[in-house]
Amino acid sequence: MTFHEKFRQYDLGEGHPFRGDRYVNAMRFFESQGLFNLSEIVLVEPQPASKEDLLRVHDEGYVDLIFRLAEESKPYDIETPVSPEILEAALLIVGGAVECGKAVYEGKVKRAVSLGGGYHHAGRNYGGGFCLFNDVAVLVEYLRTIYDVKRILILDYDVHFGNGTSNIYYRDPHVLYISLHQDPRTIYPGTGFAWQIGEHEGEGYNVNVPLPPGTSDSTYLYALNEVFVPLAEEFKPEIIIANGGSDPHFADMLGNLRLTVKGFFGLSRVIRETADKVCDGKFVLMPGSGYNPSVLPPCWYALVAGVVGLEDISVKDPYNPPEEPPQCRKMVENTIKELKRLLKKEWVCFR
Ligand SMILES: [Zn+2]
Repeated sequence: MTFHEKFRQYDLGEGHPFRGDRYVNAMRFFESQGLFNLSEIVLVEPQPASKEDLLRVHDEGYVDLIFRLAEESKPYDIETPVSPEILEAALLIVGGAVECGKAVYEGKVKRAVSLGGGYHHAGRNYGGGFCLFNDVAVLVEYLRTIYDVKRILILDYDVHFGNGTSNIYYRDPHVLYISLHQDPRTIYPGTGFAWQIGEHEGEGYNVNVPLPPGTSDSTYLYALNEVFVPLAEEFKPEIIIANGGSDPHFADMLGNLRLTVKGFFGLSRVIRETADKVCDGKFVLMPGSGYNPSVLPPCWYALVAGVVGLEDISVKDPYNPPEEPPQCRKMVENTIKELKRLLKKEWVCFR
């Protein structure tokens, strides 16, 4: 697991939901649950990502712009401020992703956690949605360049659609991007529809599963098992990268899905088991989002516990979740039916 004290500098200011204390609060919670007593967990302090790492994904003009804005402490957009401190933290977080890839491909570990990662709204030449550099794509390009990895599966389980990551790989059949997110008609960034399946050579390699507000654990896991698991088995990636924090939790302020802490644990276990089946266990988790400070630590814990392979966790939600609206399951079943129809040309498992 990668962590650096300076991650806390990724604090987007007074009143902003993206707070700098999230990382250390999560670490404290992990500690209280005895996570660091497990021999499987090794903490690594990352080096900042290099410009070379960034330039495998981002345009030089865009990277220069962010460095210039940082010097002048000017925001990128209204919700994405930039300062020397934020830039330093951003580079360390991206460096964490690179470190995780290195640890897996040098055989030190099978699974790694890039704490605080998953800046999926950043594209090649744009940022936004609290994101400056797309650490998921930086990791993908690092693995392709340094270790000649040919097939990579990204599972994006953040409540928001990862428009940046999706856009970067929209024409690329070597990176299968699967995203489960809240229906884009009801949440930022407003895209991520089922019909957006990739284009040219990448057609069929962008898989969006929009979920109606209110979707809870069992329907979410149903969607995961219907879409992610069979696609992973057929695509046979060399590694799975999964990103998303606690914003699909029912008590999160920015999203309207209704996952519980147990749901996050179940989700993480499904990814781990699938990685064991299809890619010798190679799996990097990037938990970064989450805007309710009281549910972020237990949700990130549940995700990490699933990566580690714990059988069960005793962590609970702060209060009982509201029930899933009755129409949700049917809506998700229909979406998946439609998705299989759209994708059956490329995927045997959907025929
Ligand atoms: Zn999000």
